[in-house]
Parts: sequence; C-alpha cells; structure tokens
Amino acid sequence: MPNVNSGKINLLRIAPPLGASTSMAITFSQLLALSPFHAARVEKIACYHCDEKMRQTKALYVKFNGQQRAVCCHGCMAILQTIERNDMIEDYLAARSMQIDVR
Ligand SMILES: [Zn+2]
Repeated sequence: MPNVNSGKINLLRIAPPLGASTSMAITFSQLLALSPFHAARVEKIACYHCDEKMRQTKALYVKFNGQQRAVCCHGCMAILQTIERNDMIEDYLAARSMQIDVR
C-alpha cells in the first residue's frame, strides 16, 4: 500500500536547515532570468487559430487572408489553408468576432 504521506516527508527532507542564510542564495530559475538569452527563449505568442501559447521560435507561419499568421502546428495551418481554399474566410472571421468557438 502506497504511503500517502511520503510527499510531505520528502518536502521536509529538502527544506534548508534552520538558521541557514538564504539572502545570497540564487535559484536556477533566477539565474536563467538574468541570462541575456532568457527573453528570447521564453517569449510566447498565441496561435492565430487555436490561441495555444507557444514559443515564438516554435511557431509556423501561414499566409491567411493576405497576412502572415503564426500557428502552433500543421493542424492549425491546414485548417486556415482549407478555410482559404474553400472561400470561407469571411464566415471564419465573422464567427471569430462573435466569439463562436471555431477551433
Ligand atoms: Zn493552434
């Protein structure tokens, strides 16, 4: 039978000893935030189609309604291409503006 308290016990074990100074301590994520490359690495944008947040470097780009749009995957890209090829851009944009879930 699994010990349901094991998580608690582990947390206590990794806690710093009482009296230990943490004023000069720096966590790995803080160190990462100081890196000049940090901003570019974590900058996230939303997929034009499904609104999924993605790293800008992972985005795919598709021309839709005359503009380059960032999408999260080939699925979202295919949807936009299909909408355009089937002359459904107006319907799609109208549905979006009415906040109808078109995903
Ligand atoms: Zn998407």
